[in-house]
Amino acid sequence: MIKNQKPENKNQNLPRPPIVVILGHVDHGKTTLLDKIRKTNVAAKEAGEITQSIGAYEIEHNGKKITFIDTPGHEAFNKMREHGANVADLAVLVVAVDESIKPQTKESIDVLNKTKTPFVVAINKIDKPGANINKVVNDLMEQNVLLEKYGGHIPWQAVSAKTGEGINELLELILLAGEMENLTYNPSEKASGIIIESNMDHQRGIMAAAILKNGILKTGDQIATESAFGKIKILENFLGKKVISLFPSAPTLILGFETMPKIGEEFFSGEINLTEIQINKQKNPEKLKISKLQPDQKYINLILKADTIGSLEALKNVLLDTSMKIDQLKFLHESVGKITDNDVRSATASNAIIIGFKTKIQKSAEEMAKIHSVKIISSEIIYELKKILEENLSSQKISKISGELEVLAVFNQKTKKQIIGGKVVSGVLKNNNQVKIIRNEKEIGSGKIINLQFQKQDATEVESGNECGLLLESDVKINVADHLIY
Ligand code: GDP
Repeated sequence: MIKNQKPENKNQNLPRPPIVVILGHVDHGKTTLLDKIRKTNVAAKEAGEITQSIGAYEIEHNGKKITFIDTPGHEAFNKMREHGANVADLAVLVVAVDESIKPQTKESIDVLNKTKTPFVVAINKIDKPGANINKVVNDLMEQNVLLEKYGGHIPWQAVSAKTGEGINELLELILLAGEMENLTYNPSEKASGIIIESNMDHQRGIMAAAILKNGILKTGDQIATESAFGKIKILENFLGKKVISLFPSAPTLILGFETMPKIGEEFFSGEINLTEIQINKQKNPEKLKISKLQPDQKYINLILKADTIGSLEALKNVLLDTSMKIDQLKFLHESVGKITDNDVRSATASNAIIIGFKTKIQKSAEEMAKIHSVKIISSEIIYELKKILEENLSSQKISKISGELEVLAVFNQKTKKQIIGGKVVSGVLKNNNQVKIIRNEKEIGSGKIINLQFQKQDATEVESGNECGLLLESDVKINVADHLIY
């Protein structure tokens, strides 16, 4: 327990198992190797209980544990690096003996060198007739990967992921390499680790798969990442069994996040300082619904929705590549799932455009968007979204809006000076503001506010969410449901 840690245990570092990722060229046997290791090293009864992979599993070899990340390939690994987090302590570079070095083998070596990740080499498919291990050794040498017994220090093992030959020896090498790294954790420190998967389950809510790297993770504790927060309601181990607490380097499924954490983000759990949570809440756009807009707002607020976390990342990358300057785009909120009423509410309050990639729009949200003139751009084709957005961004209307009022009542229209009542749906409405009049999504004229009243008193400004009265000078006869933008 973090709280009851005895003083002599403070700052005590305890060994933790290595966290291992498998890299290599496509078809060189990464998945087969991961499957073989899992089947032969997780007790048969338990292995049968694994109903759903959480992206990582734990094995025990000669009484020692190893955590394998079971999303093979350097893409997953790279993604995690992009977020500045190095989830893996060690890597296994798989090279098939019949094909030797291929483009993705080289890329993997590059990634390993750049990230200074220690690795062992598994020369795979040695069951194949005519397997020439020496060729692989020489080809690796050309890539500056010098193997043990061949003038270098990189441990290696010839294996067959198919027959299982050499796999025990490979596990030994991994454990040895792990020991060399002196991997430890501190039980009295705040629990922390890396999010490796996150998704929304209709029944269970937000589920985040993670690997614990420090401290002790417990149910009931607060948990936060840079973009999400919550309280751990349920903690499951990689077999899908509920547990009360977990120790590093365990893979885990966490239920209790209020918003979706991102892949590769670092999480912290335990007694989180409230201001830390507050910062995370502020960073969480869902909570920005009531945020005030600057009247001179120059940037474009976007709310992104997509069918999966992967699509969301892809969408962001493409949008950041638009002809607009990056500082003109602001990703207010991004999440997986349909476009909902809540998204439209957020968009209304913050003048945002909703972008949906490979996702549907709830009927009620569509109607609400029409009423509040919220723009929703939705498509299955990412470049189409980019194009439509660019077209919209270049239109004056969007880039100059700083707020909006919806007309709820019209009291006196005898002259050009009309008395009307309305609700500020976004931004801050100021006395003397010039406004554009929008009817059925079309601009039909302009006007000027010459008096503003809030709670029957003269006011200089009225904030979003409030109703107010105003004297508007305009040639256009205002109707109920018109929108004034300023
Ligand atoms: P990945 O793309 O690196 O994950 O490769 P896979 O694990 O999907 O393997 C690609 C193909 O190679 C599959 O048909 C496997 O059955 C086969 N394979 C993998 N390991 C071995 C091995 O050790 N020996 C033989 N003969 N075939 C293998």
